[in-house]
Amino acid sequence: MYEDTIAAIATPPGIGGIGTIRLSGAEALPILRALFVRGSGRMLAGDRPPPAHRLLYGYVRDPATGARVDEVLAAYMPAPHSYTREDVVEIDSHGGPAPLQQILGLALRQGARLAHPGEFTLRAFLNGRLDLAQAEAVLDVINARTQAGLRAAVDQLGGRLSGRVRELRARLLRVLAHLEAEIDFPEDDVPPSDVTPLLHPLLDEIRALARDAESGMLIRQGVRTALIGRPNAGKSSLLNALLRADRAIVTPIPGTTRDTLEETANLAGIPFVLVDTAGLTETADLVEQLGIERSKAAAGRADLVLLVIDGARPIEAADEAALRALFAEAGAAPDGGDLQERLLVVLNKQDLPAQVAPADVARLLPGVPVVAASAQTVDGVAALEAAMVARVRGGQSGGNETPLVTNVRHRDALLAAADHLAAAAAAATAGTPAAFVAVDIHAALNALGAITGETVGEDLLDVIFREFCIGK
Ligand code: GDP
Repeated sequence: MYEDTIAAIATPPGIGGIGTIRLSGAEALPILRALFVRGSGRMLAGDRPPPAHRLLYGYVRDPATGARVDEVLAAYMPAPHSYTREDVVEIDSHGGPAPLQQILGLALRQGARLAHPGEFTLRAFLNGRLDLAQAEAVLDVINARTQAGLRAAVDQLGGRLSGRVRELRARLLRVLAHLEAEIDFPEDDVPPSDVTPLLHPLLDEIRALARDAESGMLIRQGVRTALIGRPNAGKSSLLNALLRADRAIVTPIPGTTRDTLEETANLAGIPFVLVDTAGLTETADLVEQLGIERSKAAAGRADLVLLVIDGARPIEAADEAALRALFAEAGAAPDGGDLQERLLVVLNKQDLPAQVAPADVARLLPGVPVVAASAQTVDGVAALEAAMVARVRGGQSGGNETPLVTNVRHRDALLAAADHLAAAAAAATAGTPAAFVAVDIHAALNALGAITGETVGEDLLDVIFREFCIGK
């Protein structure tokens, strides 16, 4: 338990019906006593605690002046039955900056300290109410952008991933026990037990979990999707068709999409963050005219690139040159994949007489999937959505099953554990002394323990909790 009592406004800045000030620590109740007046005008009794986990109606008043600050509801949640396992007080005032700031200020004057981002959840973790994977899930619940993302986060908060990791660790500990028996009694005439049959299934399961993470990470982080192509190809129209809402301004005049738009479309539970590359500047430079620089920049940062081609206009030499320039120089993807693997061609305007055949595209961009569609009639847009999902899933089924692993930190820990286990299995097979095999298994245990936080240092905790908002 901590010495100091932390306080923060837990609701987002701005105006709302209700705002919440949260306090955690030994001084939470004394501070409530100092600030709170019941509706009857009486203060809380000093000789016994107020009823726990009940809403108390009354006012916050400034103890220095006696002035009422706001009408509030207050709740007292004594340790250990609280979010942090410490004494927690929550005060619900009206949700404007003035009452919230004033009440927070009064709490600070009574001896509370302003909480750091994520500090309530950090205390919940350090006090053992949540493990690290569960604490991280709190942030994922808050940030979830799709139902699938929320489901995965709530599962993780409920301990689904943690339970699986603990089970794997327990099995590894049993393998270790086998080995340690041999280390402790080398003179016994027992033949060295072969632990490889125990290690291989564990290795397979851990690798399967790490694979599961690929679709899980898509659900959690979203897919940055750039729409590129020459002006008037129908990028904005397609973006609208994908969003099913008229957010981008569609106009028949080329190059009027001045600002880069970002909208999130939810396809099969995966948030696709769609980025419409901005329109063109009038310039004599052909490359600039075709928006190559901008497209390159957008494509370089994207997980998925939709190249929109106007199917009602023949492909010109300039288009081919533009494509070649794009391919020659497009930057590497965040994950290192090259453009070819992230590309999907949309042959748009299928409602008009075709001037471009899919075979023409295949000749230009061999191996890249092509979807024929019309942003106008929305024909083929469902097929495009399916192709987008298939492209990012890379042939993995996934989908209906809620993924267990959604976080790159957890995926990396699983991969590290798998590497150590593979080394352990190889050593065991080679007849290496048990003590050496045990070293690799210890390392695998540590890697798995980093997921639930059994084996993490303070610096990592800092990195993780810095992402939180204040008051969480
Ligand atoms: P952008 O410059 O690539 O963003 O293209 P826009 O989405 O602004 O579309 C340019 C013009 O083409 C507009 O007049 C659209 O209405 C039209 N357009 C876009 N998609 C289609 C389509 O599938 N069929 C037809 N007939 N017109 C389209």
